[in-house]
Amino acid sequence: AKRAGRAQFRIDAGQDVPVPVDQLRLEVDLHHAIERRELELFFQPQFDGRTLQVVGAEALLRWRHPQLGMVPPDRFIPLAEESGLIVPIGRWVIDEACRQAAEWSALACRPIGVAVNVSVRQMLGDDIASVVAQALRRHALPAQRLELEITESLAVGDVAQARLLLARLADLGVGVAIDDFGVGYSSLAYLRDLPVQRVKIDRSFLRQVPQDAGSSRLVGAMVSMARALEIGLVAEGVETVEQLDFLCEQGCDAIQGYLLGRPIAGDDFLHRLMADDFG
Ligand code: C2E
Ligand code: CA
Ligand code: CA
Ligand code: CA
Repeated sequence: AKRAGRAQFRIDAGQDVPVPVDQLRLEVDLHHAIERRELELFFQPQFDGRTLQVVGAEALLRWRHPQLGMVPPDRFIPLAEESGLIVPIGRWVIDEACRQAAEWSALACRPIGVAVNVSVRQMLGDDIASVVAQALRRHALPAQRLELEITESLAVGDVAQARLLLARLADLGVGVAIDDFGVGYSSLAYLRDLPVQRVKIDRSFLRQVPQDAGSSRLVGAMVSMARALEIGLVAEGVETVEQLDFLCEQGCDAIQGYLLGRPIAGDDFLHRLMADDFG
């Protein structure tokens, strides 16, 4: 799907078109994407590592462009960050994710959590704690059902400021997860210095699991480390039964990946939840 989305940016399939034209068009159009209701959240299920029950979902942003079709987030989030549009877009994402989680939990009669990606630019450029508090209140969503996924680069600039921001979120009761864990260079310092409840092992670490002994030992060590530090651990990008079996054996808390569920529209998520049709 990613490849198809990307191909739509080629005017002529044979040759590479200079990127800036497309980028400019996208950036101009992005200004109207919210009010024109072109943004949409997809949701990828997250499963309990022991029971393999659905316990929540990660919200993944999509842009249905009227001419270009579905634009993948990797294409427009960098533009949103550069232009500052990530602030209003990010607010919409948090609000919409809370709305959905509240609706699902009410209809399914059990708690369903939601994880939202928050970029560093949004984290530093907005009063994120107020935005979160307002969304929780508006949709009467218990704070424990919302998790913010942040990347390690948040702490690259100013660790003291990052700590303050995360402490305010912890006060609200929302969870914070480190996304793409292990890819940055300061992962362990991050765990030492900042209050986080979960880490998400980047899928690049899983690629060779379990056939490669070195990769498998590394992932096993990450699971042990998380347990020793009493933080939760999500494995993302789980694509094969062998990976799933390995992670379950190691005692991984939560599983996410194409094997058990791809990102789908909110309505589809609800239908499958109600029909107990995941996994
Ligand atoms: P991410 O946060 O690391 O999200 C995981 C990405 O991996 C998603 O791509 C998801 O569809 C994909 N994925 C999930 N399971 C598998 C699997 O088993 N195999 C493979 N190959 N891929 C899998 P997506 O939806 O295209 O999102 C790309 C990135 O865009 C995200 O990476 C995240 O960094 C960013 N993003 C998405 N939504 C938002 C948002 O609302 N706000 C911000 N700031 N960033 C977002
Ligand atoms: Ca993420
Ligand atoms: Ca990730
Ligand atoms: Ca990523």
